[in-house]
Amino acid sequence: MLVVSRKMIVKDIAEKWKNQNYLGKKWRILNGGINSKDLYKKLVDLGENPNPDDVDMIIGNKGWTSLVCGDCMKFKDKGVLFGRGNHSLVICYDCLKSVLYKFFK
Ligand SMILES: [Zn+2]
Repeated sequence: MLVVSRKMIVKDIAEKWKNQNYLGKKWRILNGGINSKDLYKKLVDLGENPNPDDVDMIIGNKGWTSLVCGDCMKFKDKGVLFGRGNHSLVICYDCLKSVLYKFFK
């Protein structure tokens, strides 16, 4: 278990973006004819500790910076990560608090 935040998951966002959009020797062209290389340069320009909201603005959606609680399914800035790899799940503070309350009741 560890605490994860949007700030943590965007730390290496430029590299993640490149891994998904640089195919061999060509950058993927996105919907609307946008070259993914242009967005990559903007992500690199954000520096080593990008603000997740700035990343959302560049990419055009929250898909790359979102933490969704596996229980209430709400978007959260922080959560606790349970498990590893494909068997992992993020649970938010509110859901943890709620279940702990029931646990000790
Ligand atoms: Zn939750």
